[in-house]
Order: sequence, then C-alpha cells, then structure tokens
Amino acid sequence: MSHLIWFRTDLRVADHEALFQAVSAAKQQKQHCHAVFFWSEDQWRSHGAGDAKIAATLDAVTELNHSLAKLGIDFHVLTVDTWEDCSRELQSLCQKHAISDIYMHTEPGWNELERDQQVAQQLTDNVQIHRYHDLYFLDPEHHLTQQHQVYKVFTAYKKSLLRQFSIDHLAVFPPSKAGKPLKPKPLHVKTTAEWKNTLQLPTTEASAIERLDEFCDCVSRYADDRDIPSLDATSRLSVALSLGCISSRQIAHALHKKGIQLASDTYFSEIIWRDYYKYLLFHTPDLCLGRAYNKKWDQFPWQNNPSELERWQQGKTGVPIVDAAMRQLNTTGWMHNRLRMVAAMYLVKILQLDWRLGEAWFADKLADFDFAANNGGWQWVASTGVDAVPYFRIFNPYQQTKRFDPQGRFIRTYLPELQDIEARFFQKQPSSTLSSSYPAPKTDYAEARRDTLEKFKRIG
Ligand code: FAD
Repeated sequence: MSHLIWFRTDLRVADHEALFQAVSAAKQQKQHCHAVFFWSEDQWRSHGAGDAKIAATLDAVTELNHSLAKLGIDFHVLTVDTWEDCSRELQSLCQKHAISDIYMHTEPGWNELERDQQVAQQLTDNVQIHRYHDLYFLDPEHHLTQQHQVYKVFTAYKKSLLRQFSIDHLAVFPPSKAGKPLKPKPLHVKTTAEWKNTLQLPTTEASAIERLDEFCDCVSRYADDRDIPSLDATSRLSVALSLGCISSRQIAHALHKKGIQLASDTYFSEIIWRDYYKYLLFHTPDLCLGRAYNKKWDQFPWQNNPSELERWQQGKTGVPIVDAAMRQLNTTGWMHNRLRMVAAMYLVKILQLDWRLGEAWFADKLADFDFAANNGGWQWVASTGVDAVPYFRIFNPYQQTKRFDPQGRFIRTYLPELQDIEARFFQKQPSSTLSSSYPAPKTDYAEARRDTLEKFKRIG
C-alpha cells in the first residue's frame, strides 16, 4: 500500500502538514509516498486567472517536482480540463499505486468545495481522506465570536486570533524525507501562458524563503515606507503566498525569530488580513458567484461605459497615479497595495463602473491573483464587503499622489510621456492635457464624487 499527498495551493515541501503526516504514516508502515498535482489551466482560467498567475504556477510546480524527488516522493502532475475530472484521475492513481490514504489541505471556494465533495463521494471506501486546515492560523470552523457567529469585523477577528495565538502556532513542520532521492520526471505540462517576471517576484519555494530572509532584515521600515510605491518597501511575497510556496505560519515564525512582537507588528497585521479574507470565503463560498457581501449595494446604478472601462484597463484615464498603477499591473503582473486601492476606487466611485469588472481585470493580470484577497479588496473598496470602507470615504487620487508620490517618481517610471512634467501637475485635476501624448481626463473628479455620494445616500 502507499500514501498520496494532493498538492493544490500549497506548493512547498517545508511547513506542509499534509506532507508531514503522509510521510510519517508511510514511514511507520514502511510504505511508499506519492504526490499529485492537477494542472487545470482551463479551470483556473474559468475562475478568471490569467497568464501571469498561470506562468507563476508553472515555476512553482517545476521546483516542487525537484524538491519532492529529493525527498523520495514520486510526483505525478496530471493535466485535467476541469476539476470534475479529478475524481476519475484519482481513482485510477489509487488503483495503479495501491493508495490507501490521501492527505490534503482544505481550500475555501465554491468549485473547490464541489470538487472535494465529489472526490469524497466517488472514491472507494478503501481510500481514506485526511484533511487539514493548514491554510489558516486557526481552524476557521471553530473560530467564531462568543455568540457563535462569523467575525464580521477585522479588528475583532485579529484580536481574537492574537489572543489564541501561542508558541505552538509558530511551530513549522520540517520537510520530511520519504525515501531515497528519485530522479525528477519530466513535467509534460502544456500551457499558453506567457509572462515576464520583470520585478523578480518570488514564484518558487526557494526564492520565497530567500526573499523572506532579506525582508526580515528591513521589516522595521515597513510601517513607515509601505505606502510609498516608488520604494521596494513591501515583502512582494504575495505571488508565493497565493501559490502556497510559503505559508503564513513560516512568516510568523521568521518574524518571531527576529524578536518582532507579532501583536503590534504592522506587517503581521497584513498577513492577518490575508487570513481573514480566506476565513470569510470559508464561511461564505457563494462570494465566488459574484454576489456582494452586503446585497443592499447591488442596487447601485452602475454605468455601462465600455470605452471608459477600456481607458481604465489600459492606463489611459488621464489621472496619472491611476494610469501609472494600471500600467504597472499590465506590464509586471503586480501592483502596489496603496495603488490597488486608489485605482480600484477610481473605477468604482468616480467612473461608477461595477466593481466586478475591475475585479475580473485584476484577476486576469495579477500574478498574485487570489480569489479571497482580490474579492475582499474589491468589496472593501466598493463598500459592499465585510468591514469595508464606508461609502463616503472616497480616496482623492490627486491627494493620494501628493501624500504617497510627492516627487512623481512612481508616476514617471510608468508614464514616460510625463517625464518632463513637474510633480505639482500630478496633484490636481488638470484643466488641459499635460502632454500631447497623454490624454486629459474625461470625468470631472469633484462632480463625479458628489454624484456617487448622492447615489449611495439614496440607497443607504
Ligand atoms: P505586503 O505589504 O508585503 O504584505 C504581505 C502579505 O500580506 C501579502 O503578500 C499578502 O499575502 C498579504 N496582504 C497584504 N495586504 C493584504 C490585503 N489588503 N488583503 C489580503 N492580503 C493582504 N492580494 C493578493 O495576494 N491577491 C490578490 O488578488 C489581491 N487583490 C487585491 C485587490 C484589491 C482591489 C486590493 C485593494 C488589494 C488586493 N490584494 C491582493 C491585497 C494586497 O494589495 C496585496 O496582497 C499586496 O499588495 C501584495 O504585495 P506584497 O506581497 O508586497 O504585500
């Protein structure tokens, strides 16, 4: 008999509970260990993922193939059209290799749940499934308010998490050797995805660990510098985290080792936001069906304006900070967090376009696309989500430029046509074009803001 680890969004060998448990059981019973990953490009694309995310996934799987071979684990990368095929493929893998036990981490999400239910129903009784809530700091099923409700306020969630957090939650699982090293098998993965990782974002386990090490040395600057998009002041670990090349626990562990007080650390708080959005998706899988968390705001009369949408997508709105942000996204597959909020808010609250259109564009372009974080971020901006920004707090992109890109450094990096324009012109709505090769904005900021507020007020 042998044991199987089913890899999904946990493409690493260190701190991997399912791998640890599978290898421990296999060793005890002197049995073999196999691993499987389903290359499901059509399924991922149907969830909105684009080239950058899919190309990053291939990087991660390629390295995992080598890492598992070193641990003596036989890795099978199987291509499926949709997740409906997983169950059939697993059954034949189980038969071929006499697999008695499958180990996996739970994943939140509508199709993810359907897939796992189908597998559980269709596998024979001879195969036992072991599931671990490894994606979250605490078991989301039991992490509830005193009234046994889901946490709907982030600070309350964070407080409760920190209260329960102990040294045990920082212990990481070591990568476990199942047997003698094997020769890695060729991957045979076909993909149409192309992406140039120009920002050198970590997309594999080894590069993520390296980046975390470097980042820990300058994490003390994070609180002050994280909002300045012209600086490389954030961890840029989002792609690796979204693929599971590194775990939140490994980050907590590394920060703790550096002597950082997790409870008051700004960086750790962002890691908890990630955990929180996963937790919300766990409890509300139908967020995947495009629904607003707070249905009331679905009455907002969104504009139907494809050409305005296209200008926003292409970074040609005429608002420099928004355009520079969108071009960063389109050319690198990543966007700074402050700018995600600014660009998203401009789409929703000034152009009055449905947040779901922006969500889909980000999903398609981001190498770190993660449904829970992306949907959470968009619903926060649109004021439709849990603990979202109140509808009357609308970021003024010109004020944001003054505060976070006062010299126009970031803007000029991505808008070469504004190279010779003084920074002060980026800080207010221009009355005419700033350059012959750069458009003037078609929407008056102040007027649109007033109109949006009135429309929200009428509903609220
Ligand atoms: P750091 O500042 O170094 O933060 C460390 C990690 O914490 C990140 O890698 C990420 O995993 C997590 N994190 C930080 N901020 C948030 C947040 N607000 N919500 C959830 N997790 C957070 N993040 C994604 O990983 N995937 C997405 O698809 C995504 N879409 C977003 C869409 C919108 C509209 C907004 C406003 C935010 C979105 N974010 C998303 C969150 C955040 O912008 C990115 O995680 C962050 O910019 C990634 O860069 P970093 O790794 O340098 O972040």
